[in-house]
Amino acid sequence: MRILVVEDESAISEAVRGALTADGHAVDVVADGNDALEWASTYPYELVVLDVVLPGLDGFAVCAALRERGFNAPVLMLTALDSVSDRVSGLDHGADDYLAKPFAMAELRARVRALGRRTADDRSPRITIHDLELDPATLGVRRAGRQIRLTTREFALLELLARHPGQIFAQDRLIEALWDADYASESNIVEVYVRSLRRKVDDGRRDGLIETVRGSGYRLRATPPDVGPVPVPDPAPVATNGHRPVPSESGRGD
Ligand code: CA
Repeated sequence: MRILVVEDESAISEAVRGALTADGHAVDVVADGNDALEWASTYPYELVVLDVVLPGLDGFAVCAALRERGFNAPVLMLTALDSVSDRVSGLDHGADDYLAKPFAMAELRARVRALGRRTADDRSPRITIHDLELDPATLGVRRAGRQIRLTTREFALLELLARHPGQIFAQDRLIEALWDADYASESNIVEVYVRSLRRKVDDGRRDGLIETVRGSGYRLRATPPDVGPVPVPDPAPVATNGHRPVPSESGRGD
């Protein structure tokens, strides 16, 4: 997901950025309430992590203004510990969830995952397309039961495609959704990632799932192309003890 973090304490914002980036998200950080409004109306964020105490507009005002402008993505507010009024106020201003400071990074990551599922078409924690399985909690991927190792960014790309099977994503849309503002200028980055993903996930298989739609973009097929029956290789002769039979010329006595 592309996530906006609004926090003026850089130690916290950098720790959050590090954790969410490691989970494969594209993270932009701003430290001021007015900047938050500007960035949120410029880029297609799928989630905002919003501190309450900020220079410029405070978090409540930012959240209310975002909702007034029709901003639909979930907002996770960072509130003061034990401040019931902060939490109530956050929810009343349109936040979806809150986390009291100081918080454990594992909890922030879990809440981000849960909020991300709220907006996705498929809200189940795991995604299954044909014989491809993704587990966003562990970044685990399997194809036909075989484990596939992906980088966090590759996983994010595959997850986005897999949450919307059959839908075509243009390069620009993928860059906006998956890369933060620092990367936006590298024009062939999507191509590079798709190539790598295809090599790992489709691995030369005839029932490839990652499709390039010429002139339009990329998509994950909801069902693989009809390739007919996949030939089963002739099984090698196996001796009863589980080893290949050794020809008698090898000197082994019968
Ligand atoms: Ca703050």
